[in-house]
Amino acid sequence: MAGQEAQDWKSMIHRCFRCGYCKFTTTYSDINCPSYKKYRFETYSTGGRLWLAYAALIGDISWSENMANVLYACTTCGNCVENCRFDKFNDFLVDFIEAARAEAAAKGFCPDPQKALLDRTLNSKFYNPYGELHATNAELRKEHELPDEAEWVYFIGCTSNYRQQNIRDATLRFLKRANINFTLIDERCCCSPLFRTGQINSVKEFIDYNIAQIKKTGATKIITSCAGCYKTIKKDWIKFGFDHGMTVYHTAELIYRLISEEKIRFKGKYDKKVTYHDPCHLSRHMKLYEVPREVYKEIPGLELVEMKRNKENAWCCGAGGGVKIGYPEWALEISKERLQEASETGATVISSTCPFCKTNLNDANNKFNTKFQVLDLIELIDKIEFELKCD
Ligand code: SF4
Ligand code: SF4
Repeated sequence: MAGQEAQDWKSMIHRCFRCGYCKFTTTYSDINCPSYKKYRFETYSTGGRLWLAYAALIGDISWSENMANVLYACTTCGNCVENCRFDKFNDFLVDFIEAARAEAAAKGFCPDPQKALLDRTLNSKFYNPYGELHATNAELRKEHELPDEAEWVYFIGCTSNYRQQNIRDATLRFLKRANINFTLIDERCCCSPLFRTGQINSVKEFIDYNIAQIKKTGATKIITSCAGCYKTIKKDWIKFGFDHGMTVYHTAELIYRLISEEKIRFKGKYDKKVTYHDPCHLSRHMKLYEVPREVYKEIPGLELVEMKRNKENAWCCGAGGGVKIGYPEWALEISKERLQEASETGATVISSTCPFCKTNLNDANNKFNTKFQVLDLIELIDKIEFELKCD
């Protein structure tokens, strides 16, 4: 932060009452900030973090590794945004945390594991935070006979392309089955991990590249099955000045639209009790609470049951904000709590709409032997036949 920008942040951070509501659910029935719940120390709640950053901004304390570790021990889940009682101010809470991280990173205090995300993404062999060899998606385009120009671009995202390929393949099959005129691009990371961890110096070249690739196809719509890509492309890219002028859909939104317009109707049955885990970056950050639920409810036989904490009060899966890489054991502990809550519903399937949630829930499911089937919505849809009604 420099000059006027730092002044703006300083005066805004100063408005925090230090009342502490931000760490609870709306009914105060549970501590819902994963960070505070673990550390039980005010500095690890949003209010505490803001005042810590404020102290550094006005020079009362020095930036340090210890201080950066406090800033980075947050999943950016957005519970504080929902539950801070200070309207308008609350909209900016996660932005403050990410801006403070950017300041820490600029001063050389980004922790090494999170810094590795940047190093791998910048490496031209990878262009993704996983350090996997870059996939141009040319083979997938060939395999699925996708055109050079199309109405939609399916932005796969790094987690689906390199870690949860079943979500990628189920999305491709759905788009084909639903007769969507789409294609793929040679994409690079959307930069969600970099935005979340305050490593924003190089995002411009990645976003410019991705937008240029999308524009080459003539597409006016972008679709993704990843909550992180969705929030980043729809909100962060625009916020950082890259107004691509395209409509961005999560797959759940397209499916919901096709159902509402009576273009598809599910035929197959799925006789299972399913509980839905709201991904923070689709729900609290983008307010898509009901759309995925409406899709689950349309699947014949499927019984949708809610966990005690859901929608704006959902307990985070624990993977976001660089926590999965920075604090891997803690990330699994957070998911363990989610799986315990899911088991109280009697569901056998826990489903989400984000490949990163699926990864962490699945890792915890395996580690703690909770015996759930962990499935993304699109993987579940992949199992169901549907009728397509063409215009
Ligand atoms: S974003 Fe989530 S983890 Fe971070 S301070 Fe807010 S409630 Fe806590
Ligand atoms: S962030 Fe909001 S809820 Fe949290 S301590 Fe500050 S004013 Fe209170």
